[in-house]
Amino acid sequence: MSGQLSMLGGAPARASALDLYARATPGFEERLARTVALLRQAASEHGSGLIQASSLGAEDMVITDLISRHALPICVATLDTGRLHAQTLALLPRIRQSYGIEVQVYSPPEQAVITLVRERGLNSMYESLALRKECCGIRKLEPLKRMLDGRTAWITGLRREQSANRADVPFTEPDGPGRVKLNALAEWSWADVWHYIQSYAVPYNDLHDQFMPSIGCEPCTRAIAVGEDFRAGRWWWENDDAKECGLHKSHSPAQAGSAHGAEIGSGVSAQANFGKAEVKAATAAGRSQDENAKECGLHKAQSNEELNNHGAKA
Ligand code: SF4
Repeated sequence: MSGQLSMLGGAPARASALDLYARATPGFEERLARTVALLRQAASEHGSGLIQASSLGAEDMVITDLISRHALPICVATLDTGRLHAQTLALLPRIRQSYGIEVQVYSPPEQAVITLVRERGLNSMYESLALRKECCGIRKLEPLKRMLDGRTAWITGLRREQSANRADVPFTEPDGPGRVKLNALAEWSWADVWHYIQSYAVPYNDLHDQFMPSIGCEPCTRAIAVGEDFRAGRWWWENDDAKECGLHKSHSPAQAGSAHGAEIGSGVSAQANFGKAEVKAATAAGRSQDENAKECGLHKAQSNEELNNHGAKA
């Protein structure tokens, strides 16, 4: 289903994510080549110790396409939290059909989820930051621990442009003893991601056409509105108090708060992409956003101790 734009001087009345974002910009082929080289080298160095942890978002679909297109022996895995949108889960058969890849799916322990829902209710994440983290710990971090057990490297779709917290994301970073995290698209812009998706007909989540650039679990994701930050639709109800949580790693504290409206690609900002759109689905106008809290912990250094602590809460 295409996104709805009420008006735009010269822009289409209806527009998909491809219409809105895909743009060829200088240096794209070089960035693409560096990403392919990084993936190829990682596959060579780590062998079966390497895994792509896919969120099934646009960036991760690009990486899966690259893995397939270049016949790289890299396993693809995802987390099924039990709260994903149907549109997200629908990508699994689409990946199978397009690439012949069977995505490994890691789910939270059934008993832990039953206990969580019985003791806290289905939507405890709205009640407090601690309860939201408890839910993320059970539904995301525990399965992630199992996904990464025995792995020496994992591939993510983190990009510097995504948020202030990610402004300094390197291509390669240590991630606990004996493991590295490879951010294969670290230097890509949002325009690059969609230019690639358009150029190579990569399947993508239909929700991207509904003003959801960043997609997580259904209760914790909403469409973004005019002028909102890229990840404003994630855990949108959390406020500045959440800054004291300490859970979420900030790659660049000095830059925190400076990336709202950060430039994308050739001078087109995330805000500008939406700036002329009237997004009917957007909610919670006026609530504060806290970039430090806009992480579920998946991209914090995943030492075994940290992962075990989260697992213990389950
Ligand atoms: S994103 Fe929301 S639903 Fe998903 S695990 Fe975290 S708190 Fe729970």
